[in-house]
Amino acid sequence: MNRDTSRDLYDRALGVLPGGVNSSVRAAPQPYPTFVRKGDAGRVVDADGNKYVDWVMGLGPLLLGHDVPESVQSAIQRRASEGPMYGMPTEVEVEHAEFIARHVPSVEMVRFVNSGTEATVSAVRLARGYTGRDKIVVMESGYHGAQESTLVEGGGEGATPSSPGIPESFAEHTLTVPFNDEEAASEVFAEHGDDIAAVLVEPILANKGIVEPEAGYHETLRDLTEDHGALLVFDEVITGFRVGGLSCAQGEYGITPDLTTFGKVIGGGFPIGAIGGRTEIMEEFTPSGDVFQAGTFSGHPVTMAAGLETLTYAAENDVYEHVNSLGERLRDGLRDVVAERAPAYSVVGTDSLFKVVFTRDGEAPRNGADVGRANVQRWNRVFRPEMREAGIMLSQNQFESQFVSASHTETDVEETIEAYRDAL
Ligand SMILES: *Cc1c(COP(=O)(O)O)cnc(C)c1O
Repeated sequence: MNRDTSRDLYDRALGVLPGGVNSSVRAAPQPYPTFVRKGDAGRVVDADGNKYVDWVMGLGPLLLGHDVPESVQSAIQRRASEGPMYGMPTEVEVEHAEFIARHVPSVEMVRFVNSGTEATVSAVRLARGYTGRDKIVVMESGYHGAQESTLVEGGGEGATPSSPGIPESFAEHTLTVPFNDEEAASEVFAEHGDDIAAVLVEPILANKGIVEPEAGYHETLRDLTEDHGALLVFDEVITGFRVGGLSCAQGEYGITPDLTTFGKVIGGGFPIGAIGGRTEIMEEFTPSGDVFQAGTFSGHPVTMAAGLETLTYAAENDVYEHVNSLGERLRDGLRDVVAERAPAYSVVGTDSLFKVVFTRDGEAPRNGADVGRANVQRWNRVFRPEMREAGIMLSQNQFESQFVSASHTETDVEETIEAYRDAL
């Protein structure tokens, strides 16, 4: 496979972009990442003209894949041709917020922002402002974007910033607990209950392998937060409008969080984030309340049109049936392959999320630390490059989720299962 153009582009990129990329994970593949020329249904074509089945799908946003339906394309083009944005409100923002509020029971009001990171930053500020408390509880190995309060490592009260450039004082207000550990959650509330503004949790850990909640776990978080006057914030940036269809993961699990952060799918491939929740809490945001929140590009009309038309298309067509059933076939097929070729590994995921985690003992991971013990070296150095050579583009590291889109076909699934069989 000739990849000279990708190599040359990366060589140039290293001169002008730190690490040659604009988001770190893109540079994970060694020795250089694949540069994309264009998408084609469930596949991508790279800068050298090679074609791959694409399970990266923008790292989550592309529910419909690269084969964008006519209605979505024309909405985007119409908006873009009418002047891209105004700094004044537009009808499409109201319509998009109404769509979300109609389908997600916990959401009465929405504030749109421009990324998942911005959504979690604003949600944490809102929770702190609303409760008058400083501490937040997050999961070890949970991911909430590139925000100061949640980029922490280490357990419990010993959490420290996981990146230079973040003052220790940010981590002082962040308490970490392992996912799926009800006892640890109870303990943290027993000790700090009066100071905790919120628990911020991905309903499914989807940035460190894919770890599903055990029965009762989110109910425990719901009870603890309610009992102690803290907010439960579901970070549905990945799971929103992907897991559990239009009612999101919270609908699937029957949990009503106080606040929800969204991103990825709701922008139809354009930059977006959103915070949603009850009116009483949401109206604490400026200008109705005092918790400052603002953004030049927030509610961008092109993004709003792309997101709303994408969700409308999904609601009116059998998108979730399609992606979930292909996801099921992939996971079933991969389970057979793993049983035969690598019984220590674990096939994880639900709905349109899937991954094979290179666990060492055949035990499905219960939390981020379990995923962290996987055979990352084999995945990075041997397995992923072989899959790429076979025309299958997997996410850039062992931990990121992989995504089925409406553009994928049974052929994509069969080819992928066969490639796993050969490469494992
Ligand atoms: C992707 C992601 C974010 C960050 O979103 P960005 O748009 O990359 O800033 C936050 N939380 C979760 C759960 C995510 O998957």
